[in-house]
Formats: sequence, C-alpha cells, structure tokens
Amino acid sequence: MNKDQINNLITFDRDHIWHPYTSMAEPLPVYPVVAADGVELELADGRRLVDGMSSWWCAIHGYNHPVINQAIKGQLDKMAHVMFGGITHEPAVCLVKKLIDITPEPLQHVFLADSGSVSVEVAIKMALQYFQTQGPKTKTRLLTVRGGYHGDTLACMSVCDPVTGMHHLFTDILPKQIFAHKPACRFDQPYNSESIDDLAGLLKANSSEIAAVIIEPVVQGAGGMWFYHPQYLVDLRELCDRHNILLIFDEIATGFGRTGKMFACQWPEISPDIMTVGKALTGGYMTLAASLTTEKVAMGISDNGGVFMHGPTFMANPLACAAACAGLDLLNKGDWASQVSEIETGLKAMLEPCRSSELVADVRVLGAIGVVEMHQPVDIAAIQKFFVDHGVWIRPFGKLIYLMPPYIISPDRLKLLCDAVTGWINLQA
Ligand code: PLP
Repeated sequence: MNKDQINNLITFDRDHIWHPYTSMAEPLPVYPVVAADGVELELADGRRLVDGMSSWWCAIHGYNHPVINQAIKGQLDKMAHVMFGGITHEPAVCLVKKLIDITPEPLQHVFLADSGSVSVEVAIKMALQYFQTQGPKTKTRLLTVRGGYHGDTLACMSVCDPVTGMHHLFTDILPKQIFAHKPACRFDQPYNSESIDDLAGLLKANSSEIAAVIIEPVVQGAGGMWFYHPQYLVDLRELCDRHNILLIFDEIATGFGRTGKMFACQWPEISPDIMTVGKALTGGYMTLAASLTTEKVAMGISDNGGVFMHGPTFMANPLACAAACAGLDLLNKGDWASQVSEIETGLKAMLEPCRSSELVADVRVLGAIGVVEMHQPVDIAAIQKFFVDHGVWIRPFGKLIYLMPPYIISPDRLKLLCDAVTGWINLQA
C-alpha cells in the first residue's frame, strides 16, 4: 500500500469504525496489518512485527498455517455454512468427538457457540435452567471471585470483576451476583487454605440462592493476569458439591495448552460441571467456542421434555468446525507441551530482571504467559509506538505488560519480545 492509501484507510477507520474498548471521539491509533505469517504480522508500510499476543490468546499455531488453511479451503468447497436446526454435519461431529476426547471425562455433552462470551452466556443459562427444572427454583444467582473476566455480553458482565473487569459503568443495570475475594494464594507459593474462607462463608450463607460458581481456573486473564494456586480449585469443588452448587470453569483463555497443561483444570486434576472453551479452539482462525457439560446437567435440563433455550444462527459453522478440527489435530501431535515449556523457561529468564526496576510491582510467568505488572498504568499509545518501532506487537492494558506468543515462536524471536519489554522499562527509569 502506498502512503496515500494507508492514510485514507486510517482516516476512514478513525471516523467510522469502533475498535475494542475505544472512544469514537478520541480513538487510540491503529496500525494497518496486511498479512500475517508464522509469528509475524506485516504492516501496510512493509514493516514486520514479531507477535507477542497470539491475537489475544488465539493464534497458538501461528498465522497462515498450511494445515488449517487447507482444512478451511477443503470445507469451503463443500459448504461454508448451513443452519444447525434439524441438520447436522461431519465437521461438527468430528469436532465434538475430539473435544470430548481431550476434556475431562465427565464432560460429554457439547453446545457449539459462536464466541467466548456467548459460550459463557450458554454455560450460565445451563446452570440456571438446570435448577429451574430440577429445583430448588430459588437458585437463580451466581457466585464468582474478584479479578475475573468472562466476556462482554450482559450475563458475562455481571460476573466480571466490577472494577478491573471493564464493566463498572453497568453495575446498576446488571443482575446482582455475589463476589468473593480474589484468590490470594499465589501459584508459586505454598497453599494457604484461608484464602478460600471468604468464598466458603458466602457459599454457605447464600447456598439456597446460588446456582453456580463461575471462575477462570488457575489463571485470571483480562481481569488482572493473576495466577493462583490449583489447590484452591480442589477446595472449591468440594464446597460446591457440599452445597449443591454447579461449578463452571471458564477455560476460554487458559484452554489448549497455554498454562502448560492442555486445560488449566488439569493442574488440580478436577473436573467442573460445565466448561467453556474458545479462542485457541480454531487456532485463532475463526470465531467459535463451546460449552461442555456432564450427563447430570444435560439430562437434568432435558427432564420432562425440557429443551435447552439457546440456538444461534451461526451455531456450529462448518468452516469454523473444520478449522478447529485441524487445530486440535495439530495439538494432539503433542509438540505444544515442549514448546510451551521452552517459552516458559525463556520468559522466566528474560523477564525476571524487570523485577529490579522500582517501577515494577511483580513479574510472573506460567506456561506461555509472561506478565510484568507495573505500579502505575502505562501510556498505551506511547508504549505501543515504542514496541512497533522495535519490531514487536505487544498490547499492554492498565498496569500490565504481558506476553503470550504463538507456541511456535523461536528462542531468538522470544528474546526480541522480552528485550522490547525490558528496553521500555529501562527507558522509563
Ligand atoms: N472468558 C474469558 C476467560 C476470556 O478471556 C474472554 C475473552 O477475552 C471471554 C470469556 C470472552 O470471549 P470472546 O471475546 O470470544 O467473546
């Protein structure tokens, strides 16, 4: 693209197109991307950036992957989309078989949704509908922990952290859910069982009203990039069982290897009643998510001729299912485990020095996620420009500068990402 074309594109975009969490009046700058391949994004002006974000946890196999490309092209020639009411198709059946195989054994029934937020809405509706059918009908609320993020639609917003979850403007409009303290027990320190006391008290006091607890297992993502101790989830599972409360794990960000296990719930080796997956499901190619549940919940909802009340137009889109099947085949080959482990080693070694800066509050690494938490929020436009000028794509938010590259990243490219982070911090000191 020449300079005029680039300027026209940016001007039209600025005047007419909303970007995530931005103002129409004073939008942040955007960088036009024309291609993406492997771990690199190509800007319209020809510059190439090493991607540290995997397009928000999604592009785990890298961009323009020949296997996923071929799966989509093959499917496109047969059928791009067809309604899922009264119809089924091989890509959906193939995908659900694979999902059932790699997720915890009790999860046997799958709803294919069209985005992460929708799959969380579906999970919440499953829990609520289960108790409307099975009783007690008073169980109409959810409990969650502070620091969580579950998406941007209304029910999702009601269980996001009221402050860091980006939805505080809606507090008076949303259903009133119950919030326990954020799990204070760090992943990398001995478990302190007192960290679940607050939640245990709230569950006990409100058990007649609570249908489900929803939580991101082990890693809280967009609500604060916080890693907590897996034992917390063992205690939580036991509490939910004791009080007849369903447990929903939101694995949309953590699923498919990102934390070093295929699913984060495999750290404590426990299984939820309902689980959501999305993001990396299609290798970042297309929007698709799933809500999985147990025989007990699925049949509980379906008792006495009950039907589950959800059915999006693009449910089980065949192109997305084909991309997901190919992406899961790549994962099943198993290279991801050593790739993630190598990224973890690299991130630990190369981000740890940031801790010595007085501007830095904490450094934490788990699997292919590296986080540098600053004391103060960063100036997004300025830091973004610095990173682009240094040949990397890293998109911080609030006080958090974090890396979660595609699993296929090479050690030298990972070093470029980490050098850019340390370089920026050194410049501020
Ligand atoms: N749940 C979690 C844990 C997420 O991280 C996200 C997105 O960041 C969502 C749900 C919402 O997914 P989507 O953006 O696909 O609607």
